[in-house]
Amino acid sequence: MKVLNPTSPVGEIAGVGPTREKQLARLGLNTVRDLVFNFPRMYEERGNVLPLAYADTENSYGFLLTVASEVKSAAIRKGLTISKFRAFDESGVCEVTFFNAPFVKDTFHTGSQFRFWGKLTRQKRTLQLTNPKYEPYVDGIELAQFVPIYSLTQGISSKFVEKTTRAALDAYLPSSVDYLPEEIRLRNGLANLNYALKNIHFPADAEALARAMRRLAFDEMLCFGLGISMASQYKKRTEGVKFNPCDLAPLLNIIPYELTRGQKNAVNDVYRDTVLGDEGGIKPMARIIVGDVGSGKTVCATIAMYICASSKYQAALMAPTEILARQHYKELSAIYERLGIKTELLLGSTTAKEKKRIYADIESGVCDIVIGTHALLSDKISFANLGLIITDEQHRFGVNQRAVLKDKAKRAHMLVMSATPIPRTLALTMYGDLDVSRITEMPSGRQRVDTFVVDESYRDRLCDFIKKQVALGGQCYVVCPSIERRDDELDTAFEPVSLTELSRTKATDLNLKNAVEHAENLRQKLGNIEVACLHGRMKAKEKDAVMAAFSRGEISVLVSTTVVEVGVNVPNATLMIIENAERFGLSQLHQLRGRVGRGSKKSYCVLVSGGGAEASASRLEVMRTTYDGFEIAEKDLLLRGPGDFFASSDNDGLRQSGGFSFKLASLCNDSELFNTAFSAAKEIVQKDPNLSHSEHLGLREELNKYILHDNSTIS
Ligand code: ADP
Ligand code: MG
Repeated sequence: MKVLNPTSPVGEIAGVGPTREKQLARLGLNTVRDLVFNFPRMYEERGNVLPLAYADTENSYGFLLTVASEVKSAAIRKGLTISKFRAFDESGVCEVTFFNAPFVKDTFHTGSQFRFWGKLTRQKRTLQLTNPKYEPYVDGIELAQFVPIYSLTQGISSKFVEKTTRAALDAYLPSSVDYLPEEIRLRNGLANLNYALKNIHFPADAEALARAMRRLAFDEMLCFGLGISMASQYKKRTEGVKFNPCDLAPLLNIIPYELTRGQKNAVNDVYRDTVLGDEGGIKPMARIIVGDVGSGKTVCATIAMYICASSKYQAALMAPTEILARQHYKELSAIYERLGIKTELLLGSTTAKEKKRIYADIESGVCDIVIGTHALLSDKISFANLGLIITDEQHRFGVNQRAVLKDKAKRAHMLVMSATPIPRTLALTMYGDLDVSRITEMPSGRQRVDTFVVDESYRDRLCDFIKKQVALGGQCYVVCPSIERRDDELDTAFEPVSLTELSRTKATDLNLKNAVEHAENLRQKLGNIEVACLHGRMKAKEKDAVMAAFSRGEISVLVSTTVVEVGVNVPNATLMIIENAERFGLSQLHQLRGRVGRGSKKSYCVLVSGGGAEASASRLEVMRTTYDGFEIAEKDLLLRGPGDFFASSDNDGLRQSGGFSFKLASLCNDSELFNTAFSAAKEIVQKDPNLSHSEHLGLREELNKYILHDNSTIS
């Protein structure tokens, strides 16, 4: 047998053949280490076993049942077989049904005992358990309290990932060294790494799971904090590029409106940082423009790049998605063209030939401004004289992306645009390395987007409302939390009994509205209204085609996942409907709402709540009464803790491309942990700015793992 190590390919694990290996690769799982750090997306508390008579039909529970009859299978129609048997415990009897699983007749025999997991339903007077999960119950052998549930891809079951992960852990743990300095670990009462890794996958009990999560969330926040602290240390030591004084009039004459006060201030800040400097001369600018969605940050970037290009330096603008990069390019290149500034668009999907030409033009200095996605991070690009790097981050934090780009020109200036109104209390830590320009007012003439919170019972009226908006010449976004039904395994709708929070951002439960199916549904209900679907798994070309058609008004209703969140601008859109709104963070909802109300027409936002906890009702209520992004962010922080500010805006279950990919910090609502992680990071960097001391080498390596390169086709 092969001896496995952390970098062994998953194919070397027993039971993983070439097909499985490919499927795992699709989930980004290539090595033993990848599996170990692929944390479950939720857990089923199957140890929570209830007598049949005491269970409600709202939640899933564990049931310890004895099989009372042999399995009877019947083919109902082509492609549908039903297998049924009866089972009991001391409190009652129920009927267990499996669809398309005729093989279960070899599993269940009269008198044998199993632990089932599922949601009971009541049909007339009999209790039903449909497609439950099950494990044989053997006296003396303890079954796990919590069963991990992993993100899946077509053809792979969570059980398989579980089994493979167990093997990976066995291979990984013996040689794993805790990278966290012991002193920090003990001071903060954190579990050791091996304990955390073992229990995040296979928690011994609820407390062990909580300890594991706390430790691993701490690590993520610590690394994030390290990235920030290192960047700000660096800034103090270097001299920056000096731009020449320049006249902004030629550019301002092209822009068809007057800048707001906030925009003017932001532009002045940039001018001071890059042209005027202070007593200490010019330092590399590290500035963030924070302004609510729609406040007009793009034009500030446009001006900053103009200042840069006027001094014959190159500027790069990086957007989080291809859609947004294209939109920026279209808008800006039209302006720059009139000023004799050469602008290029570089995307992951740009053809190899075109890429080669652009690379050459960047290297020779022919290209003045390049706009793109993470494709800009490619090591094949070397700039002739990069002077300014702008990242349009929206919801995402790209400290390390910035660092990577920054590597291309140490003295270049950096400008970040963010629409995430970070609460002041978090801003200091999260953007500690950046000077802040705030745009607090909206361009004049903006209307308030009236917001409503409704439930399923409003479905028909909602349909009529769409029709009405379209009849008035408007367009409509419908945002859903997931892409399509995942029925790769007989995965019935489940809700984790406890730790419900765990599933909030990542769940793909069947009862969630999914974009593909919902689009189909609306198409039928809306008659001859043009409906299209947009999601992150479509090819970049298809996405662009749909987006372009929506911009041109050829599509009236766009059903999508959160890919629309990031900055698209269709002023004719007047209605934003958000399905399962309870699944989204408030700041995210606010961003989505900002997609409408951009033109002159009255606009509306409807939050459709799929039900759920009281807390989520009051959260949505905040959206109805509050329109200020900062206020919303503060409330989100109060209600939910800092976790939401780490959440990726990509609910498609794809890995966040570039920057930090938070797995656990996004679930953490422990402000204190957040603060301790950040002060620990600061302390480490003060003592050891490059993490070169021996006790920090492991941490440095860990930090590097957070940098994901060039995944630019994912958006
Ligand atoms: P965001 O800050 O969300 O990136 P954008 O830069 O996309 O916002 O701007 C939103 C819209 O507002 C754009 O259509 C832009 O042309 C317009 N806009 C920006 N600044 C002004 C202004 N000062 N007056 C009028 N319209 C403006
Ligand atoms: Mg924007």
